[in-house]
Amino acid sequence: FVFAAAKASGLPEAEGVEVAFAGRSNVGKSSLINALTGQANLARTSHQPGRTQEVIFFANPAAPNLGLVDLPGYGYAAVSKKLKRDWGQLILDYLAGRPNLVRVFLLVDSRRGVGEIDHPAMDLLDKVALSYQIVLTKVDKVKIDELDQIRAKVVKSISKRPAAYPDIIETSSAEGTGTDELRKTILRLAQE
Ligand code: GDP
Repeated sequence: FVFAAAKASGLPEAEGVEVAFAGRSNVGKSSLINALTGQANLARTSHQPGRTQEVIFFANPAAPNLGLVDLPGYGYAAVSKKLKRDWGQLILDYLAGRPNLVRVFLLVDSRRGVGEIDHPAMDLLDKVALSYQIVLTKVDKVKIDELDQIRAKVVKSISKRPAAYPDIIETSSAEGTGTDELRKTILRLAQE
């Protein structure tokens, strides 16, 4: 853990390479960050979705050039309007003003696929031309043929989106599926 910023003015200096994780509340973001880093409690798995309204920075002493950034989950109805506005502004300020941010991993629950709630985030990323890649979560919850259908839908929904990276990563934090692939993708980005 390095830093938690609740305001754009409080963001740490942009150093090294950063990748960020985004997605709707409850998508499995904390679990994935924990699985990825092999640290059970690094990102808090939350039973109160929408509670964390901060941009959280993690670093790995073994890879000092690489930062992981946990963006607050979006789409939680009980978040007040004002908080939603501030939250949006914080994300926008972070995303638009971060030259060392090389990719945003946009997490999508494999049971739901890309939903209405994800479109504003994708619109924003397309607008600021930030490379983003869909990561399906909780694939242990769906049958193989369901996953095939969801994958096809996701591919279709990103096909006309300019900043979307075409490859999708399929993960299950519960079973460890896909974490190696995600880790390799991140390390490759850090070396580019
Ligand atoms: P966040 O709000 O996006 O950070 O989501 P969490 O990581 O807190 O996870 C939300 C809920 O989904 C929790 O109850 C987790 O136990 C569950 N969950 C997360 N990842 C997986 C997964 O890979 N498989 C299954 N079956 N459940 C998961």
